[in-house]
Amino acid sequence: MNTSSWAADILIVDDDIGVLRALDKAVRPPHNVRFATSGAEALRLMEDDPPDLVLLDNQMPGMSGFELLGMIKRDPVLADVPVIIVTTQSDPAFELNGLEQGAADFIAKPVQTAIVRARVQTQVNLKRANDTLKQISEVDRLNLAQAMVDLRASHAQLQQTAEALKLANEGLLQFVRISSHDLLEPLNTVVQFAGLMEEDHGTELPDGAQRYLRLMRNAGERMRSLLDDVVRYSRLQRGESDPPKPVQLDLLLANLCDALAAPLIETGTQLSIHPLPTVMGHASLLSLLFQNLLSNAMKFVPEGRAPKINVSSRLSNGLVTIRVQDNGIGIAPHHIEKLFQPFARLNLRREFEGSGLGLALCRQIVEAHGGTLTVQSVLGAGSSFEVHLPQYRDDRS
Ligand code: ADP
Repeated sequence: MNTSSWAADILIVDDDIGVLRALDKAVRPPHNVRFATSGAEALRLMEDDPPDLVLLDNQMPGMSGFELLGMIKRDPVLADVPVIIVTTQSDPAFELNGLEQGAADFIAKPVQTAIVRARVQTQVNLKRANDTLKQISEVDRLNLAQAMVDLRASHAQLQQTAEALKLANEGLLQFVRISSHDLLEPLNTVVQFAGLMEEDHGTELPDGAQRYLRLMRNAGERMRSLLDDVVRYSRLQRGESDPPKPVQLDLLLANLCDALAAPLIETGTQLSIHPLPTVMGHASLLSLLFQNLLSNAMKFVPEGRAPKINVSSRLSNGLVTIRVQDNGIGIAPHHIEKLFQPFARLNLRREFEGSGLGLALCRQIVEAHGGTLTVQSVLGAGSSFEVHLPQYRDDRS
């Protein structure tokens, strides 16, 4: 902003023509000047068009300079116009009085051109800066008000959408839960009778028929586990669970190893489990969480590589972290975010079997326990899934 070249509109108020001339000479150019020889005339001129600065003689017949100053400062439209008092008085009490009434500065009579010019220019610059600031804050205020209106509108819109989505989601989950439940019953019958037929009459059937029966039973069992996952997922989504209890993860993992003995042996998995803490939660859900993580660690391994799984824990900042580390196929960095979405499968189904719900379920379980689930992975070398849970503090001890 180049303030020095700005031509301000200056009103000189004085009944002495000689002083008027001297002041005029000092400020023009660059500034424009208007004159008034009395307070009343000055007020009229200012009402029509407020000036940028007033040079005011304090001793005039009729209305005194201070009286006019008071009127200017009480008028909301004129209050910001700086007023310089031109005076023969030099005692401090006079100046203090003027300053208290809102005078911006004083110029001593007889006036000296250089001093008038410098003092006027200072006040003109300040006025200009003040006007610019006012303009900016007015624009900001308007922008802010508009932004608030927009924000309120989009907030209301968002709330409506969220409400509609919530309802739709609840309906969908309810539908999924009921239909999966209803599908499980006939499916159990199919799997059960296929098993009985294999047991009781398997030997009477030709080899081909026995193979078809086995395939039928395997497919039925796979579908049962998919439906189980869907039911569990929708239950968790609805926030259905019992009150939490202390769960000893050492014991939980030992039981899980027993349950997973067959696939562990079948795949030749080398599983090391280090000491694990107790956490607050739901044993059945936590068991499902680690079962999914261990099953994935056993499953997503390149052909010909024996799975090696390491389960360990650490404590820091009130959080326990349980890490399940494998030596599997790893996950590409751009797939990491997709991993926890329901039905996300990063590999071909014919290579690795699964519902794509396992990790979505794992994340739900961890979050239902007030924790987070993270993963680090190196493609081709292995992955580390980390379960971060609040530390359990036994209040009885
Ligand atoms: P799935 O039922 O297919 O196992 P998950 O939700 O458990 O579904 O896993 C989603 C996808 O994440 C898997 O299909 C697989 O591509 C990838 N994945 C999960 N765990 C691992 C792992 N330990 N190593 C490599 N990839 C994994």
